[in-house]
Amino acid sequence: MYNPKSLKAEEFICHEEVLDTLAYAEENKNNVALIDQIIAKAKLRKGLDHREASVLLACEIPEKINALYALAHQIKLDFYGNRIVMFAPLYLSNYCVNGCVYCPYHHQNKHIPRIKLTQEQIRNEVIALQDMGHKRLAIEAGEDPVNNPIEYILESIKTIYSIQHKNGAIRRVNVNIAATTVENYRKLKEAGIGTYILFQETYHKESYEKLHPTGPKHNYAYHTEAMDRAMEGGIDDVGLGVLFGLELYKYEFAALLMHAEHLEAVHGVGPHTISVPRIKRADDIDPNVFDNGIDDETFAKICALIRVCVPYTGMIISTRESQQVREKVLPLGVSQISGASRTSVGGYCEEVRPHESEQFDVSDSRTLDEVVRWLMEGGYIPSFCTACYREGRTGDRFMSLCKTGQIQNCCHPNALLTLKEYLMDYASDETRAVGEALIAKEIHNIPNEKAKAICEAHLGSIADGKRDFRF
Ligand code: SAM
Repeated sequence: MYNPKSLKAEEFICHEEVLDTLAYAEENKNNVALIDQIIAKAKLRKGLDHREASVLLACEIPEKINALYALAHQIKLDFYGNRIVMFAPLYLSNYCVNGCVYCPYHHQNKHIPRIKLTQEQIRNEVIALQDMGHKRLAIEAGEDPVNNPIEYILESIKTIYSIQHKNGAIRRVNVNIAATTVENYRKLKEAGIGTYILFQETYHKESYEKLHPTGPKHNYAYHTEAMDRAMEGGIDDVGLGVLFGLELYKYEFAALLMHAEHLEAVHGVGPHTISVPRIKRADDIDPNVFDNGIDDETFAKICALIRVCVPYTGMIISTRESQQVREKVLPLGVSQISGASRTSVGGYCEEVRPHESEQFDVSDSRTLDEVVRWLMEGGYIPSFCTACYREGRTGDRFMSLCKTGQIQNCCHPNALLTLKEYLMDYASDETRAVGEALIAKEIHNIPNEKAKAICEAHLGSIADGKRDFRF
């Protein structure tokens, strides 16, 4: 029985409700009056529910899809401006006891080296990341209670935050580790993590169990209810995601929104971010064996719909996507991207990108400097900001910043200040020139005169060697 307020996975992601939703969407995909009504509701910028969203996903009328893209673009500009937050993943360990059939770290894979970074190696990786200019990391580890216990993750977070290197420091560590207990989530919260990210992979229970045949991750309910435990443990920024390609995308999309509605209904705050990974080639993984791959057009439609359905939720695109696909979806509502990622354990310290222990092939292998310049040339402001989390603006406090429209007086200057730091400390001459021109232009887009004056003063101080200002 469907109940968004229930704490039971099979009630808040109710299989029958998803099927009914898909049938309703199919019936109405050419119902122009209903579609117009849904688009009109979306224009109010208060989001759409999973049923409404599924009708738009099923709809193939070009004119309506164009209207959806235009609206996604407008909502992105209104809520996030032209800022794109930058981050990088950091793989700590690929030891894993699970049997996920799409992931090369599955425990039966005997021909990849298993590596667990020591604290000294983590330090070296972080310094390499800081030397590129990164300030925000997402740490990744396989699930292995013996090799990667929570104590190892906590110690690693402590190490990462403790490293001051030249002008740099990692200011926000997001965590992507397997579902765990309330007690462990509390420990992660106390360690000062930003977002806790856990991809559902698939919401379809039967498929989920087949795709995760062995190991603790096999337990669908434990995995699906993880975000409730994380919130109970005090983490109020959580990141959802589906691994597209495993199951029918329409099913996943409806269920993903139901998950977001559930978090809102129970905890009063929806997901902080949604990620949209697609399956990629990896060591012993051939993405073509999964029947449900989605093409770039469908992928773009999903991105646009997420922006319209959950306007306050950030959207993350990783280097699984190529420069070309990234260019296609950035204007549709993406708020965060990774740059210069290495998806292998210990990869950042290597001269040449190592492939041996990679979790997946990256499609965008440009340097951070190249990604930053490309963003700016495309009219975006790359932001290395971590201020909200450090000012305690998480969960509903962050949402209220969005909802009151204060983002432009807060996030916009913070983006310019952190970009300025990046340009001074890490950028090539060419990128710096592009960036300085961008800052000179964008400073005028801070609406509040006082905030603008403070921002200008801080930019001058950064040029004089001072660091770490924030609104
Ligand atoms: N072991 C943790 C877990 O299971 O949540 C860590 C997360 S893992 C490093 C990050 C994500 O990468 C997984 O949740 C999965 O969605 C994705 N992933 C795994 N194999 C992949 C592949 N072949 N292509 C693309 N993404 C993949």
